[in-house]
Amino acid sequence: MEDIVILGSTGSIGTQACDVARLHKIRVRGLTGHTNTRLLEKQAREFHPDCVCVSDEQFYGDLKQRLADTDIRVLSGMEGLCEVASLHSAHTVLNALVGMDGLLPTLSAVEMGKKVALANKETLVAGGELVMHAARENGAEVLPVDSEHSAIFQCLQGNTINRVRRLILTASGGPFYGYTPDDLRRVTLEDALRHPNWSMGAKVSIDSATLMNKGLELIEAVRLFDVAPDQVDVVIHRESIVHSMVEYEDGAVMAQLGTPDMRLPIQYALLYPQRLPSPAEPLSLTQCASLTFAQPDEGTFSCLPVCREAVRKGGTAPAFVNGANEAAVALFREGQIGFSRIGELVSGALEKILQEGVQPLTSVSDVLQADAAAREYVYSRTEHSLNGKG
Ligand code: MG
Repeated sequence: MEDIVILGSTGSIGTQACDVARLHKIRVRGLTGHTNTRLLEKQAREFHPDCVCVSDEQFYGDLKQRLADTDIRVLSGMEGLCEVASLHSAHTVLNALVGMDGLLPTLSAVEMGKKVALANKETLVAGGELVMHAARENGAEVLPVDSEHSAIFQCLQGNTINRVRRLILTASGGPFYGYTPDDLRRVTLEDALRHPNWSMGAKVSIDSATLMNKGLELIEAVRLFDVAPDQVDVVIHRESIVHSMVEYEDGAVMAQLGTPDMRLPIQYALLYPQRLPSPAEPLSLTQCASLTFAQPDEGTFSCLPVCREAVRKGGTAPAFVNGANEAAVALFREGQIGFSRIGELVSGALEKILQEGVQPLTSVSDVLQADAAAREYVYSRTEHSLNGKG
């Protein structure tokens, strides 16, 4: 089994990756967290990695002190994250960072020719063309951890010579399935964080509630599997049992099913191509009784069509839309804007970038600039409500 590092080990995906590493005795060479030094210390004492990194530099002193009696190297900041991502002792990098912070560490790992198990979808959304190009150049493998993309990846096994007609992404529909725009104006942060099937971090839970998550996953699928945007369909599947599907040229549709437990796709990416026993509950089809499928309501949940249009345009458009969403979600979590404003701001961001003209992506700095400009746009559009609410 190959040695790994876990970027974002204190988050929802990260702690579940630690479960998988513990179960299969996978050697963990590096761990990183954002601010939770208590948990980082606990994980470091359990797994004895070569180094740990806390990305918020304010917590460097605290972590250093906690691990003073060990020989574990302590790092901090984005530089530290990139150093852990390119550690010589590890063959596989699990990237479970949240948001755009995942981009540079992914590139570091890919440039070192590592196998990257990618749970950070923003990496592929904003900088997908650059990341996949660098992966090809350096012989690095990018394996999906997102459950939908893991499902597609599993359905593609053994079918390399056959032409894919469509990828079908399933979406749970989130906590607000069936809501009208009016209903959405009344929902709270607490409502948005209550996902019906999956236990996830706050950012992805809110993205699931707006369907932005499915839009980001559509872009992710286009980059990862090199298909046209119009070859990716989204269907609502409330039960989250069918994790996604691939339709081949002859009309055959392959699906991957399982209980909604992220440890399954995490383990598949880490152990690929092996399948070993998993901590997840086995699937009982008679217990779920029925599996349902429906069209998403793209009029009410505008983030999904916005993402489809952004990836059709390519270049800086996906990074811009993603940056606007990250800024809007942060403001919503701070109580500065209502839930409905997220979709409005993301739609407004697409209009803005189309008006200004989409630019081609030639370097990371193009991605970071588009991201910064999008955040700027969101702040300029919400200044009024920020001042008003205080
Ligand atoms: Mg997903």
